[in-house]
Amino acid sequence: MQGEINDIRKVFDSDLRAAKLSGDFDTLYLKYFSKTQGIISLLLKKIPELTIEDRKIFGPEINELQNDLKRVIESARAEYEETVTSDPSIDLTVIEPPYNTGMMHPITQTILEMNKFFRYYGFSIAEGPEIESDEYNFRKLNLPEGHPATDLQDTLFVREPNILLRTHTSSIEARVLTEYEPPLRVVVPGKVYRNETANASNLGFFHQYQGFVVDKNITIQHLKGTLEAFHKFLFGDDIVLRFRYKYYPEVSPGMGVDMQCRFCAGMGCVVCRQKGWIEVLGSGMIHYNTLKMCGIDPEEYTGFAFGMGLDRLAMSKFEINDIRKLYSGEMIYV
Ligand SMILES: [Zn+2]
Repeated sequence: MQGEINDIRKVFDSDLRAAKLSGDFDTLYLKYFSKTQGIISLLLKKIPELTIEDRKIFGPEINELQNDLKRVIESARAEYEETVTSDPSIDLTVIEPPYNTGMMHPITQTILEMNKFFRYYGFSIAEGPEIESDEYNFRKLNLPEGHPATDLQDTLFVREPNILLRTHTSSIEARVLTEYEPPLRVVVPGKVYRNETANASNLGFFHQYQGFVVDKNITIQHLKGTLEAFHKFLFGDDIVLRFRYKYYPEVSPGMGVDMQCRFCAGMGCVVCRQKGWIEVLGSGMIHYNTLKMCGIDPEEYTGFAFGMGLDRLAMSKFEINDIRKLYSGEMIYV
């Protein structure tokens, strides 16, 4: 019996420590004093079974144990409540926020959705280095030395004059065209770098989504068809595209693509700066010189290429109004 009493005191001490942390003194009380299952209640029921001598010894001792435990529980409870209610740093009205498991970045989600479309049409997905040589970033893309785009004002050099942070994903186009034989259908999602001052719509780096096709008898109609199908996939069947001539050194002819503003249906609003159209990408037929410099016979093969800004696309898809929010780690779009 004495051993049993000692054991109870030991177990109680550790139960009490746990209760002081959780504040759950009711469960602790019931464990020892519930009428049917309480440890002390059961012990009290054993008293009549003891011999008269033992009853004289253990009766008072069990009583004392019972009083001790009740007193300790009540004083611990009072102390706990005092601390919790008087400590201004503990706010009992705060609702615990829901457990957050995180999610894929809006840019990654946009890339995966776009990949889905292009994979269906037989495109491969390519990736490549962000630190690039001027050969792949400029020369093979028909941008000769001294071209304004190769200027220090626009390009971040790792080591002048020929190691730099790629300024467009076209560098991967040059790599693929150099290393592989046509027919080729490839898309390249990736990060690119420009020497820009950060503001709501520009950053020193951003994401591009580049695509190109090289095969026999590829015409600008294939390019227009691909872009139309792609924008319908992404924005719905009711979109209206406008194609116009635009100069890009790596393509000839170059074609700018605008989408009719979806907010004002072409009437003019703040989003489209009263123009009714929003420029969505640059494209064109791959330049004769580019194919030649990448080792592809331009007399036998032709191809088209297009490149679009992923950040703006993700921003309009997720209604994010400042490009810097994409890289701030803010979780409000989850
Ligand atoms: Zn508009």
